[in-house]
Amino acid sequence: MSTEKLYYSDPYLKSFEAKILKIGVEDGENYIVLDQTAFYPEGGGQPWDTGKIKGENFEVEVYKVLEVGGEIRHYVKSVEDFSEGATVLGEINWERRILHMQHHTASHIVWGAIRRVVGDVKVAGSGIHADRARIEVFVGKGRKISHEQLEEIEWLANKIIWEDRKVKTYFLPFEEALRKFPELEVKKAVKEVRVVEIEDWDVNFCGGTHVARTGEVLAIRILRRERAGEGVDRLMITAGKTAIDMFWKERLDVENIRKMLNEKNVLKAVQNLLDSKNKLEEKVMSLEAEIQIEKLLGKAEQHGDLKILVTCVDIPKKSMEAVAKRAVQKYPNLVVLIGRVNGGAAVIGAAGEKAIDKGINIGDIINKVSKILGGGGGGQLNFAKGGGPRGDMLEEALENGKKLILEKIS
Ligand SMILES: [Zn+2]
Repeated sequence: MSTEKLYYSDPYLKSFEAKILKIGVEDGENYIVLDQTAFYPEGGGQPWDTGKIKGENFEVEVYKVLEVGGEIRHYVKSVEDFSEGATVLGEINWERRILHMQHHTASHIVWGAIRRVVGDVKVAGSGIHADRARIEVFVGKGRKISHEQLEEIEWLANKIIWEDRKVKTYFLPFEEALRKFPELEVKKAVKEVRVVEIEDWDVNFCGGTHVARTGEVLAIRILRRERAGEGVDRLMITAGKTAIDMFWKERLDVENIRKMLNEKNVLKAVQNLLDSKNKLEEKVMSLEAEIQIEKLLGKAEQHGDLKILVTCVDIPKKSMEAVAKRAVQKYPNLVVLIGRVNGGAAVIGAAGEKAIDKGINIGDIINKVSKILGGGGGGQLNFAKGGGPRGDMLEEALENGKKLILEKIS
């Protein structure tokens, strides 16, 4: 009592007539078995088909299809209108099925591309869905598929689609299949092996449903590559209408950006935006530095010709650097030594030209100050930075630095 698998003889069959062989129930779930079916049962990583089964005056939803102990079970909510021996009409959900066929064929195309680009790799796993397919590749410890390789794989896969190659499926006796394709793995001994062959590109043993020509896959996109385990890379891909929808959405996004920027060349417009943003940031930073300098100068002490500014500040480290550099540029007779506590302590020092003439080596001073902070640092005669974990020692360290400066100029 076995069901004829119409999805193998014609994967494009959307509706069919069949006779009910059996009505069954298991774990509270009703199912019917037909003498022939176009409903694909879950298997080989491909999900089951859904659809409807219709009779004279009724129809029921098929929500799950499984192959259990050699029988293909169509699971339905109710079997009260069915009787064994009656003829019914089956209709599969074609939108779902064609996406499975596109994604399944896409994964074979991508495998062919992976073998050509990455070399001798093994299948670690795979899965087909209506909107994506998962391909797991054993690449070996310490190896991964690079970004450039992914681009090449994607390009090659799409080239195979444009070339609209034939996809042949046929059965071979087990022994013959092994002889003919010794490089392919068969998990368990079966009477017959189903071969899926993409013309001059890829051969695989597979029991799923596929399109008849690669052109029907429409497009393939690699969504991402991720690590799936030691030495195993996982590629998520999308194909068919899902891929086209994605291109379409992105196309609309770009169109909207183009409108927002009022510029034909989007790339150029975004580059211009980034450039002007960077310039503005620099400008803001230097304006902020100017404001800080004037504020801090009130704390500077006059010693002879030189001004000495030693103090704690509460501005970001990046701003500290800008402030110190700009201050000594503006006032050549200035020596700056500023510090900031943030967990540990950071110190920045700068010396103007006249201060350097008087013998100030700010790199040397920062080095000594940083040691008090339990860390290190140094730099040039005119600019240096350092710090250490001892934030609590900052005031003492700065005081010490001031002493060193005064010693030099007295
Ligand atoms: Zn397949």
